[in-house]
Amino acid sequence: MESAVKDITALFGSQVFNDSVMQDRLPKHIYQSLKKTMEESLPLDENVADVVANAMKDWALEKGATHYTHWFQPMTGITAEKHDAFITPVGSGKVIMDFSGKSLVKGEPDASSFPSGGLRSTFEARGYTAWDPTAYAFVKDKTLCIPTAFCSYGGQTLDKKTPLLRSIETINRQALRILRLFGNPAVHVHTTVGPEQEYFLVDLSLFNQRKDLKVTGRTLFGAKPCKGQELEDHYFGTLKPRVAAFMQELDEELWKLGIYAKTEHNEVAPAQHELAPIFTNSNIATDHNQLTMEYMKKVALRHNMACLLHEKPFAGINGSGKHNNWSMSTDDGQNLLEPGDSPEENAQFLLFICAVVKAVDDYCDLMRVAVATAGNDHRLGGFEAPPAIVSIFLGDELTGILDAIETGIPNKATLGGFLEIGVSALPKLPKDTTDRNRTSPFAFTGNKFEFRMTGSGSSIAGVNFILNTIVAEVLEQFADELEKAEDFRAALNALIRRTIKNHKRILFNGNNYSQAWVEEAARRGLPNYPSAIDALPRFADPKNMALFVKHKIFTEQELKFRVDTLIESYSKIIHMEALTMLDMARQEILPALIGFGEQISQALLSKRACALDLDVSAEESLLKKLSADTSITAAAIEDLDQALQTVSSIKDPLLHAQACRKQVVPAMDALRAPVDRLELIVAKEHWPMPTYSELLFST
Ligand code: ADP
Ligand code: MG
Repeated sequence: MESAVKDITALFGSQVFNDSVMQDRLPKHIYQSLKKTMEESLPLDENVADVVANAMKDWALEKGATHYTHWFQPMTGITAEKHDAFITPVGSGKVIMDFSGKSLVKGEPDASSFPSGGLRSTFEARGYTAWDPTAYAFVKDKTLCIPTAFCSYGGQTLDKKTPLLRSIETINRQALRILRLFGNPAVHVHTTVGPEQEYFLVDLSLFNQRKDLKVTGRTLFGAKPCKGQELEDHYFGTLKPRVAAFMQELDEELWKLGIYAKTEHNEVAPAQHELAPIFTNSNIATDHNQLTMEYMKKVALRHNMACLLHEKPFAGINGSGKHNNWSMSTDDGQNLLEPGDSPEENAQFLLFICAVVKAVDDYCDLMRVAVATAGNDHRLGGFEAPPAIVSIFLGDELTGILDAIETGIPNKATLGGFLEIGVSALPKLPKDTTDRNRTSPFAFTGNKFEFRMTGSGSSIAGVNFILNTIVAEVLEQFADELEKAEDFRAALNALIRRTIKNHKRILFNGNNYSQAWVEEAARRGLPNYPSAIDALPRFADPKNMALFVKHKIFTEQELKFRVDTLIESYSKIIHMEALTMLDMARQEILPALIGFGEQISQALLSKRACALDLDVSAEESLLKKLSADTSITAAAIEDLDQALQTVSSIKDPLLHAQACRKQVVPAMDALRAPVDRLELIVAKEHWPMPTYSELLFST
């Protein structure tokens, strides 16, 4: 036991060029200079870069690395890397292992094949990657990976990381202004994130027999299994040995990379699981989540399983999300969303809560945009995940306190007291998790907010740069007002009261899955964008454009191109899914149906040929059903094909995407329906692919 514990502590972070490695391996003045760069986001001195690069290389060689790569996060949502060997020729056929400061700081991957919404015209197809020294380098697959941001040659951002880094700076600046007003000595504020990652595991040989899973990550056909999640026996159930072995190996791989993988358990649906890490700052949490997804897939393969990260791999079965737990913290570890003990601390706490409430209300459209993907469309509003309407759950106690502040009338939550902010003490907020509202898209859970709409397959960079930016904007407005005030206490009271009054429409503690809430939200004027393609164009609305430009997250051009990229990728996904359906229906399903039909017809004829007046009603009725739905299937194939052709003539990206949603998606549903009915009556040996029952109970 003792030695196993030691092994894990030694294993943890062993592949990371982290702070303690840097302290060990860098000359003191170089280390200090690099630290300053990291903490204050300053440009890196060239001489420092050379020394750091050399130390990194020596360390990486000891770890068995032969190559290095600039590891970046293009708009595809997955990470990209281009490997270069360390070798450098030194004449007479010999090489040395070399890595310069220049190669550390800047790289030039061929960027032309990454989505950019037209930001790079072909004549300037090159982009470059720039080291993000605020994230640690690490060794993975014998390669030194250097976390980088990815830009076009003109300096326009082409990736997911750059806006996140910019938003981290802006929220730091604005939060510090607020803290100074409270006399708080913090020198730095960062946002903290703990993403809970859901996923499915299925047997690899079965996965390989499903073209839809292989190509699109989700099943495009499939009737409901006879045993689904009705019994609720899977959630937190004991782990099957194969899954347990997978989780153990995954944990070890992640620990080596310094990822705080903490909690692993079964989820609600069969074959569904979750991994929750311990939270860390939002930049590193984002890198770590990308690596976690990568290793989930990799380690699953080693155990002959496929890991599905799609938001909705199986219709009618719970989908997968990624609960993005988010808060703000000072450099000395004070959680700004944690209620404190003194009236002073609580005034500060309430102001930060109010800032989040106002931010989410003012920019609920952006919160919806942040989670808008084709995959998440199948999940949001599916009565298992939060709806497409953004609202906030604060819980009864905190809501009661805000009510009392707004009205000036003490109530149950305030226990008769607490009215003057900063003067009276806040009643203790219960940390109890039992009364938690699990249906809320954005829930306050005692000392952090949990954004539950995030899709399982997406990078969390998107939700976090949006959260950081909208909260920074409100903190800036608050700081502007409070810094001017002659009587800080009075101004603070007035500001908090006004914010609650003006923004309480976004607060909802009830059941978000109910139809009544959809109607109530409409009465409150809260937007409801049912599909990604309804939401995405709102990204560049004038008020949102102004926000991003003001906080230097995007230029106008960068934001426009980003929206185009997201819209195009929506259309591409629908196209890919539709084409995959057509292939499967034509090449696998129709032939199977005809084959089975032939078998029944033969049986029918044989029976009749016996001339014994045998009852053939079973054969007849089966053949009729089969034949009828086979015809419907054949017609639906042609309709889907036609719909694809119709939309492909539409050149405008948004109109094209909207047409995909209005014409192609319904045509896909219309093809799926008869096939799913047929699956239930076709003989097992004739059905051309593994069924839901087989897939969901395969591990
Ligand atoms: P539960 O939601 O089941 O109660 P926890 O409260 O332990 O579980 O946390 C769930 C996730 O939230 C974990 O990833 C955890 O690290 C993260 N988390 C906890 N505190 C914070 C915080 N201050 N900021 C960001 N994430 C946090
Ligand atoms: Mg949770």
